[in-house]
Amino acid sequence: MATATHTQHLQERAAAQLRDYLVTRGMRQTPERYAVLAAAYAFTTTFTAEELIARLKEEHAYVSQPTVYNSLQLFLQANLVVRYPHVTHQSVYLRVESDAPRCYQVCNYCGRTTPIKNRALTAAVAAYHTRSFNISHRVLYICGVCGKCKRMKNEE
Ligand SMILES: [Zn+2]
Repeated sequence: MATATHTQHLQERAAAQLRDYLVTRGMRQTPERYAVLAAAYAFTTTFTAEELIARLKEEHAYVSQPTVYNSLQLFLQANLVVRYPHVTHQSVYLRVESDAPRCYQVCNYCGRTTPIKNRALTAAVAAYHTRSFNISHRVLYICGVCGKCKRMKNEE
């Protein structure tokens, strides 16, 4: 399956990036960190720390909750995951596939995040530059109410 191959490729690339990051900084290469990274990269869409913990449990990878949170913080610093702004009570993460800019619409109610395919918007996000801020990822969010939540609100 093409998706599995793509995910495997991303997992391998991310593991190599993590190895470089840890070696360069003299940090320990624990098997737990690699297990958390592989599980995080198995998500093709956004995920929360809780969902990541649940997946690790399903895979019988016994990683403690603090290790998962610490690893996510490490992956953020290593540019291996992107953290979305808080739209719900939980932080939402996404694996990094490329440096290409991304635009999403986010529902204020259910947190559902869907990609926006608009060339002009993507081009504008790609072109943005500023001296005072070192950009690591270009992600744009348009917030609002999704169709499903709107229907549910109307039925109330
Ligand atoms: Zn919604």
